Amino acid sequence: MVIITNALSAQEKIAFKVSFSEPQAHYAEVEMEISGLKEDYIDLKMPVWTPGSYLVREFAKNVEGFKVSGPSGSLLSFNKLNKNTWRIQTSKNSTIKVNYRVYSFEISVRTSFVDESHAFLSPAGLFLYPAGKLMLPSTVTIIPHKSWSKISTGLEKVAGKENTYSASDFDILFDSPIEVGNQDIFEFTAAGVKHEVAMYGGGSYDKEVLKRDMAKIVHEQTKIFGVNPNKRYVFIVHNFNSGGGGLEHLNSTVLGASRNGYSTEAGLLRFLGLVSHEYFHLWNVKRLRPIALGPFNYDEENYTNNLWIAEGFTAYYQDVFTKRAGLQSSDQFVANLATVITSVENQPGNKIQSLNDASFDAWIKQYRPNENSANSTISYYSKGSLVALIMDLEIIHSTQGKAGLDEVMKAMYDEYYVKKKRGYTDKEFKEMAEKIAGHSLSNIYDDYVYGLKAIDYNKYFNYAGFTLSDDAMQSNEPYLGIATSLREGKMIITQVGRGSGAWNDGLNVNDEIISIDNYIISKTKTGFAEMLKYVAGKQVGEKVKVAVIRDGQEKVIEVSLSRNPGVRYKISPIENSSAAQMTVRERWLK
Ligand SMILES: [Zn+2]
Repeated sequence: MVIITNALSAQEKIAFKVSFSEPQAHYAEVEMEISGLKEDYIDLKMPVWTPGSYLVREFAKNVEGFKVSGPSGSLLSFNKLNKNTWRIQTSKNSTIKVNYRVYSFEISVRTSFVDESHAFLSPAGLFLYPAGKLMLPSTVTIIPHKSWSKISTGLEKVAGKENTYSASDFDILFDSPIEVGNQDIFEFTAAGVKHEVAMYGGGSYDKEVLKRDMAKIVHEQTKIFGVNPNKRYVFIVHNFNSGGGGLEHLNSTVLGASRNGYSTEAGLLRFLGLVSHEYFHLWNVKRLRPIALGPFNYDEENYTNNLWIAEGFTAYYQDVFTKRAGLQSSDQFVANLATVITSVENQPGNKIQSLNDASFDAWIKQYRPNENSANSTISYYSKGSLVALIMDLEIIHSTQGKAGLDEVMKAMYDEYYVKKKRGYTDKEFKEMAEKIAGHSLSNIYDDYVYGLKAIDYNKYFNYAGFTLSDDAMQSNEPYLGIATSLREGKMIITQVGRGSGAWNDGLNVNDEIISIDNYIISKTKTGFAEMLKYVAGKQVGEKVKVAVIRDGQEKVIEVSLSRNPGVRYKISPIENSSAAQMTVRERWLK
């Protein structure tokens, strides 16, 4: 027999209360009660970022009205040590109350938002934690505004306590967003898991269609891992006039959607694709994860070279699963791949930044884009999805259809999440993929992950009896190389394409276009199309004079028109494909 002393009494207990006395002014009020204190002071911190979104967001900037009191109500002193740390003098009190307000007015899946209609609480930007004690459990009591009646969250309910939830540690708390309001809630069960869908903002969705289609996605994804680790899962969906994006969590997700997008076939598929993407993350990145992504350091950037696996593979699989679930056809799936390849190959940055570097620098590049991003970076989502594609085809080909990328994902999940209970290194992922392929994959890594070589798509498509061709190959279209937008009645250059005439001859972003060869460009929505039409009437190698206003002064810049380097890919089946090719195709498009 073991005598268990009350271990919990040796540590602090933390209880949060969140209320909303001024939702119309976008505030959430937080009370944090800490008991069991023994030290003379305690440092409380707020994360600077939220996992899944690789940008330092400085959540502490939204905190105001900070005060601390003892049990008698007397105020205790505190001072800030740095931007996100408060040091509180306990004055020998074992219980203290910390009160503060958080301004919440940024609409996104990773920031809190409060107004009279609802509160979306993104916990990393709301709750403080005691420095060095992320392992402590806590409870959260939500006091909804009087006009609200519902709470949706992946946090576990505390039995017998109204609107109170528990988190076993701060990683769980920070990973569990909370929706409070009058959301439309419906449920479905799939793969033995109870799923709750909380719809904010209304919309043209048909609940029965969503229940049926979302269940199919859950079912298909669970099949490859053989296990769905959750008992309950919550989809928080924010419907806006125009919305998108999602953020993954362990047992929930937050999705942005367009209120009326559900009415069209394409819009519905877009939503289901997002569902598929975020749901797949519950395995890929939330559990099977790069070693740098957990335990998290909430104080600074957490660098990883593997977002092309965490996000790129998820981007590939989001469409694989809508296809397997019968929500889109194989033809649609293949046609969409041609679109992704076209967009990656048309981005000049694809020849400048490797996938590996795109991942590492996500914090300063992917999440901080500027006017030159297309020239200098590549997305680890889209390019990563193409590396997933060729790795899948390579493995299916070399195993004669016995294995594919599914087997790599499952083996990695079993080995690193279930067995070793830690993240994987770059080398470990590669080794597992090679073990399943039965041969080295160094060429894929050296050329397309670490290197900048153009992907030899046809090598891989050929395995499955397909061929990729460029519809624009014969084109000799003259090309200026700029993008513009109409701002306050002015036609402004917003992008200059690397290597184009505009790039070589010095048109600049922010130049206001006045005329081309003395032909005045109308400052209307059709103005830029008129300009492109004029350029299309010229020949490659000809020069045009573009008059612009730069910093208040007119300049005339002579631009040599080069050939439009744009590609426009399509993927077609090869007639009379061999039996070996058909084996790969059938497995790939199963
Ligand atoms: Zn993602």
